[in-house]
Amino acid sequence: LMQLYQPLNFLGSIYSNLRKSIVDLENMFSLLSQDPEVDNQENAQHLPASLSEAGPAKIEFQNVHFGYDVEREILHGVSFIAEPGNQVAIVGPTGAGKSTISRLLFRFYDVNSGRVMIDGQDIREYIQSNLRAAIGVVPQDTVLFNDTIEYNIAYGRLGCSKEEIEQAAKLAQIHDFIQSLPGGYQTYVGERGLKLSGGEKQRIAIARAILKNPRILILDEATSALDSRTEQEIQQALDSVAKGRTVVTIAHRLSTIVHSDLILVMIDGKIKEQGTHEFLLAKNGFYASMWAIQAKQSDE
Ligand code: ADP
Repeated sequence: LMQLYQPLNFLGSIYSNLRKSIVDLENMFSLLSQDPEVDNQENAQHLPASLSEAGPAKIEFQNVHFGYDVEREILHGVSFIAEPGNQVAIVGPTGAGKSTISRLLFRFYDVNSGRVMIDGQDIREYIQSNLRAAIGVVPQDTVLFNDTIEYNIAYGRLGCSKEEIEQAAKLAQIHDFIQSLPGGYQTYVGERGLKLSGGEKQRIAIARAILKNPRILILDEATSALDSRTEQEIQQALDSVAKGRTVVTIAHRLSTIVHSDLILVMIDGKIKEQGTHEFLLAKNGFYASMWAIQAKQSDE
């Protein structure tokens, strides 16, 4: 019975993460290996998944309306374009609909009306597994398998070599830490193994994403405060995985998104403002006041 309970328990913990933030969607789908919400269309088309195959992707939301329940619409006509290789940040208060955008991009749900497009084509017309292979996710809270660190990183692309795993770990700034452990890459982690800190788990997720080499990356920035050295290291790791890809970041600290190509300011399921940091400051609207508040807080 215990053997049955363990995986259920694991699914339970994934499910609770799912409700909290973006989720480890990839784990979720591979474990359930089915998806209640969406289906492949007949004649669904191929979407190249890896950056080396096709370069960064273009993302477009066209007047997207969506609600989890029919009675309550959450997104009220969201439109934006992320050009290939652009870094796009979504900011706004809790509950505004930021994570919902990333769930729709992953096609965890289908829109009620409007369109989500990748490379100029509605994502409903792509083979679902292709779509998910093309998108890497670095969630706020990564669920680790009860297995070795090596396996947990390799999960980004099963079948890759030891050298590739180490290379990814180096880029994710977690290699030195792993080497300092007595068991090295063979150290067991997860619920029954070594407990890793939030920052360490996030770097494992970054290493996974580097191995997966997806054309699109969704980053869910951690809300919890990290010490400034860890934060710097994670930022460097994120920069190296973001490079050359189309990235959508759900941001909580404005300081990390100043250089974004596009900032979307979401309030109550609508994009109230969009543009670069400089543009939005000059506009002197919602973003400018959020910036003023965060600047004041960091002075205190
Ligand atoms: P944000 O990421 O900006 O904090 P979310 O996109 O997570 O906001 O949520 C937007 C709204 O959708 C919230 O009101 C939230 O309660 C609701 N919501 C999120 N996930 C679900 C769900 N699975 N079922 C029903 N409502 C949900």
